[in-house]
Amino acid sequence: MNKATRKAIIAGNWKMNKTRPEAKALLEELKGMVADIKTVEIVACVPFTNLETALAATEGTNIKIGAENCHFEKSGAFTGEISADMLAEMGVEYVVLGHSERRQYFAETDETVNKRTKAALAAGLKPIVCVGELLWERECGITEEVIARQIKLDFFGIEAADLKKCVIAYEPVWAIGTGKTATADQAEEVCAFIRATLAKLYGADVAETITIQYGGSMNAANAAELVSKTNVDGGLIGGASLKAADFTTIIKAAEVG
Ligand code: PEP
Repeated sequence: MNKATRKAIIAGNWKMNKTRPEAKALLEELKGMVADIKTVEIVACVPFTNLETALAATEGTNIKIGAENCHFEKSGAFTGEISADMLAEMGVEYVVLGHSERRQYFAETDETVNKRTKAALAAGLKPIVCVGELLWERECGITEEVIARQIKLDFFGIEAADLKKCVIAYEPVWAIGTGKTATADQAEEVCAFIRATLAKLYGADVAETITIQYGGSMNAANAAELVSKTNVDGGLIGGASLKAADFTTIIKAAEVG
């Protein structure tokens, strides 16, 4: 297996943006623009309050819906949290886990990312697990150590069959929402390293099947170069996913590959 046979996935991460009417309008616009796309999996990860609206707006289309987080317990006294079962019951397919904003602002750790990933898999969701180094860590020359640690901890105890249901998003923290994109070579280098790390843990055959995205200020202008790289199988897109035309350009770039 190689890039040509791995699934290219372009996922939007809307973060804390869009009311329900705004969400509906964006998805209505997007679905017309991407209706003929067949070789790229298109995902919109939206705020919890928009899930029902998004599912209804995209029913019968080629756009899948994801959430931006889920809790690791099945139910109970966790005020303000949403379980993986609650998402799966609605028809949600994907869930973003371990996003750097969750790690930075909400005390998310590799241990809780691991627990959330297991809970999401148990509920039948497809986790998009985010990893990435801080600028300081890159400057200190420990990017690979940081990434290897995150991969080992975030997927600890997860069997190969379940790993294959996961997507990994390499998101250098210094590139998220900053307008500072990793160069295509930097993205390729770390995505290849992630695949090599997976190969050590699960074997090369399994590692070759895993979709590894790049995320961090990917936009309509830089997407084509990033997704042309051998180990970059798509993208996790923040800001540019809020504009249907820009998001469509990125999806079309991934179609070419
Ligand atoms: C993200 O939120 O995952 C992201 C990559 O954001 P942006 O594209 O805005 O940098």
